[in-house]
Amino acid sequence: MGPEAIFPRELTEYERSLLLWVLPIDRSGYAEYRKFVEGWKVVGKGRRGEGNYILARPGQTLDIESPLPQVLAYGFVRSDEGEVTISVRERFGEQLEFEITGPASNNVFQGLESYHRWTFSEWLPSRTCPACDGPLREIEMKTGSGQSLILAFCVTDRRLWVYDEQTGINHLIPVTGYYNELMLQKRVQDPKIALNSKRLFSDLGTYSNSALTRAFSSYNRLRTKVLLKEPLVVSTEERINWFTRAARWLLKGRKLHTRWS
Ligand SMILES: [Zn+2]
Repeated sequence: MGPEAIFPRELTEYERSLLLWVLPIDRSGYAEYRKFVEGWKVVGKGRRGEGNYILARPGQTLDIESPLPQVLAYGFVRSDEGEVTISVRERFGEQLEFEITGPASNNVFQGLESYHRWTFSEWLPSRTCPACDGPLREIEMKTGSGQSLILAFCVTDRRLWVYDEQTGINHLIPVTGYYNELMLQKRVQDPKIALNSKRLFSDLGTYSNSALTRAFSSYNRLRTKVLLKEPLVVSTEERINWFTRAARWLLKGRKLHTRWS
């Protein structure tokens, strides 16, 4: 039996450096989690096998019966020895669950600075996707008093997240749950479409900003990702969009005409 099996134990330097990396200090929402990484101990294993552990305040009883909290922070490192992924879940009471997969070697920890790596925690609006460096579709969403959120979609990675300006957190949104809300909002009943959440990305261009905002708004009411003091403002859209598009098309036609006449 290795030292890993004895609980409670301190985080290893390797674990600590990776966890702190996906919880950047300059973002208040993540920084709040750093004190748990700094102060709590590993009290046991999670349900997801190797690399999955639970941090807790010393003296806490381990709870692995409750539903698994959603992922708060996620990162990826490509080292000489293989790929490492790091996830930290949302805090659940007095415990915090994390998972580090891949080769647990000192090289990864010591060479972290030089390896190819990315984390969703560092993304900012108008930047490319942290995972694939490709373009994103971004939608700005606001409440009546001006609290601002950015919803971002990467078609290549089939990922979406929402950036909260107040906390600096990029909340990863589960695709199936979000798509389900979108289908309910759009009243799509054909199971071939409604149950195939991959279509969120292949059909993304067909959904208006307001439809995607409304789907987030109702998703967030069910599974709170971001605490909002007021509801998000959703414009009554599609028709207006259609008119704008038609107007643009007409304008374009006129410009072309002027050019050739
Ligand atoms: Zn991407």
